Amino acid sequence: MRWTQSLIPTMKESPEGAEIPSHVLMLRAGLIGQVMAGAYTYLPLGLRALRKAEQIVRDEMDRAGAVELLMSALTPIALWERTGRVEAFGNVLINFKVKRQNRQVHMALGPTHEEVITDLVAHHINSYRQLPITLYQIQTKFRNEERPRFGVLRTSEFLMKDAYSFDTSVEGLNASYDKMYQAYCNIFQRCGLAYLPVEAESGPIGGDASHEFMVLSDNGEDRVVHCAACSYAANLERADIGQRIAMKAVTQPEPLTKVDTPNAGSIEQVSKLLKLPPERFIKTLIYVADGNPIAVLLRGDHEANEGKIRRVAKVTKLELAPAEVVQQVTGAPVGFAGPLNLKAPIWADHDVQAIANAVIGANEADKHYTGANMPRDFQVQSYADLRNAGEGDPCPRCAGKLALRHAIEVGHVFKLGTKYSDALDARFLDDKEQQHAAIMGCYGIGINRIVAALIETSHDANGIIWPMSLAPYEVILTPLNVNQEAVMQATNALYEQLQKAGVEVLLDDRDQRPGVKFKDADLIGIPLRVVIGERGLKAGQLEIKWRTEAEPAMIALDGAAEAIATMVREKR
Ligand code: ATP
Ligand code: MG
Repeated sequence: MRWTQSLIPTMKESPEGAEIPSHVLMLRAGLIGQVMAGAYTYLPLGLRALRKAEQIVRDEMDRAGAVELLMSALTPIALWERTGRVEAFGNVLINFKVKRQNRQVHMALGPTHEEVITDLVAHHINSYRQLPITLYQIQTKFRNEERPRFGVLRTSEFLMKDAYSFDTSVEGLNASYDKMYQAYCNIFQRCGLAYLPVEAESGPIGGDASHEFMVLSDNGEDRVVHCAACSYAANLERADIGQRIAMKAVTQPEPLTKVDTPNAGSIEQVSKLLKLPPERFIKTLIYVADGNPIAVLLRGDHEANEGKIRRVAKVTKLELAPAEVVQQVTGAPVGFAGPLNLKAPIWADHDVQAIANAVIGANEADKHYTGANMPRDFQVQSYADLRNAGEGDPCPRCAGKLALRHAIEVGHVFKLGTKYSDALDARFLDDKEQQHAAIMGCYGIGINRIVAALIETSHDANGIIWPMSLAPYEVILTPLNVNQEAVMQATNALYEQLQKAGVEVLLDDRDQRPGVKFKDADLIGIPLRVVIGERGLKAGQLEIKWRTEAEPAMIALDGAAEAIATMVREKR
């Protein structure tokens, strides 16, 4: 491709509104253009990178024995009603009614395709002889995300590879799952991503039933814990915490004392006011759990983990209580709840036990207690692990310590069980003519996120650093002066020869100063730059430079195309 014939609108300045490197660089390198919040056009260079990621995903899916099909993005709302996911998705499900002759047709743009694929299987598969099967597609998904942001990392319209496995037994499901897991490792490895599979919330099958593939990055929206000693890794929702070490007990218990805390309803405010660190506070959270109020006590600096609370309280629906319920249970407005005389059962996190002379809410507006001690002042129903793991917490698997990191979720594998096959009647007959629901797994990869996560973790001050596998072009030819005939003759010859050798070449044929071209070559991040200049030609030489190296090297003009093609092949 000749630069002047393509559309590569590079920018010198950081565009407004772009907060993180991948977003800035994708705009500056002319990979994408914003259409509106959460929707982007892929420009020629961006599309080439996206297609390469897509092709790696397709290749590994095919190798793992999955079969490609393509489902429609338009789906009938009735399918989503049958699985209860109209409510589950809520505002995220983009749905609308269109007029057809005299009736209204209600449809949704698929945010994922469990319903459509299960309905398809329900119609076409009825015997164990047709199973197992794993079907996949690479298709555009639509989600009305609450906060589309960070460029293509979170958009309302994105390209997903979604695969679905159907098996006759849990052992079969496990085997299908393991194949996908391995395919994911191959995919992310080939894309040059430093990925980390982490345990994720497991759902109906339980056990080791879900993994997210994460790319560690300070700008990731997800959080994961990782133990360097034993490799335990889990997302924050799922992460267990090892045996806690008791905090230093204060020797002298103080008396319970009511103190004025006017207008100070948050731990931060009260902590400032009383000059006591948040670790000395007991935070009392009021939840509505399956319709009943419960109280949860946590150390002031800890975060509640709603999945853990749900499991311990054995409830399915858990929400922070609205102000009226807080008032009923505590007798006080939000912000002053404490464990004394509560009209709700109390669950406490293990660490609460270790706090002596704690600060607690007084269940009275603008008041707190200091010097609260258990069991002298209040009791709890039971202690459990109810909080998010944090940096330095003990590992649940070994004697190591957990590290807490931000991460980008690029893929997710999940054992679904029979939720969808039951709801949509995807049943098969076994060898004894008995009917069973197919046992399913689902496996998603965000193709756009692969590209953005790569850039987020592979760039320098000058621009993107592509691995050969995702680079829009493998080689960029940079003639120093396009007005010199000898230079352009050599350049054009090399361009032709490299293309014949199967190398993907971008020829920067713009009539621009070398400095501008070098800057742009670094910005768009093509792995190998070849400079053709008058002086070099006279000496029978070309200058080559890898994007990752500081210094260029000279190679002989004679046989340059073969030499370059060999170098590229070695890096593929
Ligand atoms: P998230 O928690 O980030 O919203 P999710 O868990 O809802 O994602 P899945 O339903 O598991 O996402 O979708 C599979 C994959 O699709 C994700 O691992 C991610 O790579 C990608 N993906 C999901 N939502 C988006 C989005 N809004 N924009 C771009 N990619 C997305
Ligand atoms: Mg997910």
